[in-house]
Amino acid sequence: MIPSAAVSYSARVAALHPFDPRPPRSEAEIEAVEALDRSKLWKPFTQMSAYAGSSPLVIEEGRGNWLRDVRGRAFLDGVSSLWVNVHGHAHPRIVRAVQEQIARLDHSTLLGPTNVPAAELAGRLVDVAPRSEGEPELARVFYSDSGSTAVEIAVKMAFQYWAQHADPCERARNVFVSMTNAYHGDTLGSVSVGGIDLFHELYRPLLFETRRAPAPDPYHRAFGGDVAEHEAWCLAELRRVFDDCEGRVAALVMEPLVQGAAGMLMHSPEFLASAAALARERGALLILDEVATGFGRTGTLFASEQASVVPDLLCVAKGLTGGVLPLAATLATEEVYSGFLGRYEDYRTFFHGHSFTGNPPACAAALASLDLFADGGVLGRVRARAEQLGRRLAELDGRPHVGDVRRRGLMTGIELVADPATGEAYPSALQIGNRVIEAARAHGVLIRPLGPVVVLMPPLSITEQELDLLCDVVFASIAEVVGS
Ligand code: PMP
Repeated sequence: MIPSAAVSYSARVAALHPFDPRPPRSEAEIEAVEALDRSKLWKPFTQMSAYAGSSPLVIEEGRGNWLRDVRGRAFLDGVSSLWVNVHGHAHPRIVRAVQEQIARLDHSTLLGPTNVPAAELAGRLVDVAPRSEGEPELARVFYSDSGSTAVEIAVKMAFQYWAQHADPCERARNVFVSMTNAYHGDTLGSVSVGGIDLFHELYRPLLFETRRAPAPDPYHRAFGGDVAEHEAWCLAELRRVFDDCEGRVAALVMEPLVQGAAGMLMHSPEFLASAAALARERGALLILDEVATGFGRTGTLFASEQASVVPDLLCVAKGLTGGVLPLAATLATEEVYSGFLGRYEDYRTFFHGHSFTGNPPACAAALASLDLFADGGVLGRVRARAEQLGRRLAELDGRPHVGDVRRRGLMTGIELVADPATGEAYPSALQIGNRVIEAARAHGVLIRPLGPVVVLMPPLSITEQELDLLCDVVFASIAEVVGS
């Protein structure tokens, strides 16, 4: 008998996942956790009225590129647990580093004293930060806990830098230029520089005004025309914004190369380099948000390296600790940093900090993760996997309802559309992306869509066979939902 596709997926999942067999939990135990989850937890980005009636997926173990739930089912982690995991779950070197650090020093504040891993990590981050001839050098590291806070801090730093600038004419710089469709997090400052109306519109009265410039979006631009022309138009619009606010722009804020949450919208390194040059030319700071793109996702340690651009403020989080503990950092140039120096009574201090700023185990995890990068091989393997992914994605060419396939490194978006000839979108009530991820889950693969865009962003450690399984399952799931 020829095995059905579903059976062959489950056999491949069983053959590839790294978990040891274990006795199943009792149905009563599982129901108890599920009941607490449904009745007491308020989940992020989740319509809880729909969730209350669903059957929750309760994860309890992670190893390598896999997760296992309370029912003993293994799943390939196709989106790196929301774009954070880098070297696989429970990597022994990171686990050991965290355990040793917690046993030695669990936490001590960075307000006043300092701690060993926080200082060591600052040195390592400055060493690995993007650098390029003729560009400023990132020289100082300010810690926080999430991507949102890393951006919030960069925005506050840029604002304060200009507000206390030695040249009084420069103190008028208080306008932030952000990109359409940008996503920089959920705190109010990062929302202000964000551009996804679905998430942000309601909060408008609480936000500060920014000037928005159109981000390149080659697929959704009017059909026809050339991508280079489209980017040239976006750049001209950006120039117009700078013209309108001559001498008043504090900073240009961008996600370099990939606007992740917007649905993996991509622009060229040339566009990034031109936008950065424009900001420089007009005397504004450049804030690059590498929260999603940092730590190898796009094929280089930082995406900005591909455009030979170094920002004045660089935001990192997610993959900083290998995706193991929450830690973020905002890196600043010496020029920005020195703008905050003075006597105490000058009040130039950056009055900002969190309880867990510079948390030692989180810094130890980040150091271990950087060691894994430094030992070599990681980025080379990413390039090999990215090539494999590119080859596999080519199989989607001409598939019905696949409107666009976008990829940089391992960051991938597959956009499903009602009509590929016109780009007509599916009605959002159809929840086409969600239906694909449900189908994939049934075959042992966890992914998460962005509306109609199916996102693939596996850990950098994904193996050749695992990546093939990811592609096979996702392509089959798309076919199951939209037809093949
Ligand atoms: N910036 C970017 C580019 C992001 O993709 C995200 C999260 N997806 C954030 C900031 C916010 O990070 P966090 O969820 O850790 O606050």
